[in-house]
Amino acid sequence: MHRFEEFTTRFVQSIGKKEGPVSPVITQSASFGYGDPETAEGIFDGSIKQPLYARMGNPTSAQLEQILADMDGGAGAIATSSGMAATTLATMSLLKLDDEVISIGGLFGGTYSFFSETLSRFGVTTFFFDVEEYASIEAAITEQTKIIFLESVGNPNMRLPDIHAIAEIADRHGIVLIVDNTITPLSLSPLKMGADIVVYSTTKIISGNSSVLGGAAVFRAIKEGDDKFKTVRYKEVHKFIDKMGKMALIANARKRAMRDFGMSASAFSSYLTMLGLETLPLRMNRIIESIEKVAAALDAKGLHINHPSLPSHPQYLRYKELFAQGCGTLLTIDMQTQEEAYAFLRKTKLATITANIGDSRTLALHMASTIYSDFDDPTREFLGITPGLIRISIGLENPDDIIDDFLQASGR
Ligand code: PLP
Repeated sequence: MHRFEEFTTRFVQSIGKKEGPVSPVITQSASFGYGDPETAEGIFDGSIKQPLYARMGNPTSAQLEQILADMDGGAGAIATSSGMAATTLATMSLLKLDDEVISIGGLFGGTYSFFSETLSRFGVTTFFFDVEEYASIEAAITEQTKIIFLESVGNPNMRLPDIHAIAEIADRHGIVLIVDNTITPLSLSPLKMGADIVVYSTTKIISGNSSVLGGAAVFRAIKEGDDKFKTVRYKEVHKFIDKMGKMALIANARKRAMRDFGMSASAFSSYLTMLGLETLPLRMNRIIESIEKVAAALDAKGLHINHPSLPSHPQYLRYKELFAQGCGTLLTIDMQTQEEAYAFLRKTKLATITANIGDSRTLALHMASTIYSDFDDPTREFLGITPGLIRISIGLENPDDIIDDFLQASGR
């Protein structure tokens, strides 16, 4: 059965036009003429909806933003120059000196460094927890806690958080929950599970073919009546709520982050991202079917496979209950030693050795010697990075070919 039927129609119909150019129009201009001073004033105060300057957005990216907001049931989205830019935008638009972040599960190395090394230089402290440490998470919440951040699937530790349970904690304490849903777009809708902001690296499965770097943040609407953003904890956002109402989070992020840090998506990048997005439901469906087959076959031959579809995985039951649509394109193989991992990578004929994930092709990378090479042993241990760990991103190839190739590469 095809899992993502609802999106197949929606994406192709909203990306292609029925009149004029069918393919999305690339508006390649840094600036936009306003015509007269009154229009200029209106564009700058937000009363006239016309492009201002490409750092604040452009019409091609606006089309992508609308589609991604609809995909996740958000009030709006902002396309960014990369996935890290989306995380930077979502967090830096809310944080100030002395704030605290709680980060749960995962984490992708770049995100870990951003929290532990970069934000700490600006006086923001991050506390890291594993996905099941609910009591410690609650105990770590203070008046300074601004953000709870998690990855919907830990990259590469493959831990699956219970997003509902963590959203309930975040809500009870009036704290914003940001979910990095890069690994599982379509399979999960974090905003519907209680998250407030979702971030994506669209470089991965959304564009899906290594052609373009990009990211996006999707924001929920500010609610009428009570809303955590209306509390004193988020007082910097209040002026945007007064002016923009339910769209306040998008306005806040566009000004506080996009305008001031300039992590804008280019029109050409947004164009390429939309071309990929058109086929995302088909590719996700194919890979989710393949990955369970590949994981089971390699596990049966005695390889150390980490994927939640295997009964040995600590969150196997959660996978069955909450991840009925799969958990994306990743699995890991632990070859036990760096030498064995390198031998596997030398012998595979099918996998491309690269740092990306979510490609049409199967990709592989030894973790400890690359993305996590800068990290000390305790950090690697916390993030599940063992000496022989290879991260695999399953592609669109025939799963039997992947299995055959990996078995020969591992000497099985
Ligand atoms: N989030 C996750 C889960 C990732 O795997 C990556 C990968 O690189 C990123 C964010 C950062 O994305 P980008 O490389 O587009 O900046």
